[in-house]
Amino acid sequence: MDDTRLLRYSRHILLDELGIEGQERLLRSHVLIVGMGGLGSPAALYLASAGVGTLTLADDDVVELSNLQRQIAHSAARIGQSKVASAATALAALNPGIQVIPLHQRLAGEALEARVAAADLVLDCSDNFATRYAINRACVRQRKALVSGAAIRFGGQVSVYDLSRPQSPCYHCLFPDGQDVEDLRCAVTGVFAPLTGVVGSLQAAEALKLLTGIGTPLTGRLLLIDALTQTFRTISFGKDPACPVCAAEKTHMSTG
Ligand SMILES: [Zn+2]
Repeated sequence: MDDTRLLRYSRHILLDELGIEGQERLLRSHVLIVGMGGLGSPAALYLASAGVGTLTLADDDVVELSNLQRQIAHSAARIGQSKVASAATALAALNPGIQVIPLHQRLAGEALEARVAAADLVLDCSDNFATRYAINRACVRQRKALVSGAAIRFGGQVSVYDLSRPQSPCYHCLFPDGQDVEDLRCAVTGVFAPLTGVVGSLQAAEALKLLTGIGTPLTGRLLLIDALTQTFRTISFGKDPACPVCAAEKTHMSTG
């Protein structure tokens, strides 16, 4: 590691748990972030500042005025640009020493599968159930760790699905009926601005922990945040042995 990097990441290197070795691991890591809105903005900013070497950003939206209340990777000057181009500009200004791959598209099908396969870890910062389920399925198939976040009104959720481990539950184990649930979109329901910062920052924290192997990840636990009362609680959950996504994949792998 050169002197510039030693200085830039010195407050990480000073952490005994992380050290130079942990920082070098981050620099070699590749994270895919799906969604560059309220959660993806702080998550990407922290992963970039922390020195994750390669960030792939996927989002098919463009920056609008109503995004700026919470989507802090964007700016008034970049209204009308694609969110991934806008975020890439912000990340390059913050840390020119990392690589950012902007994908102005809604990742699905084979493209999603390939991007998940190419990453070490995936952050789900999307805002709809169809995407959440598709990302989960791809992460189960590719056996990649998934850090999932959600925020609506004053309520937030964060969880980790470490799908590199066969015993880890997947998103579908926890939310089996979500496909029938109507999406609650920020566009119509509202969301408290700093809550998205809290959830996105926690996703970044879990990602850094998983990439460096430090601490205890939120695997098998769902963190629930109520910003109105500022209450954090976690509920534990296990793998659903009949889960149509991860249990089927396991059977498929053992027979195939
Ligand atoms: Zn499952």
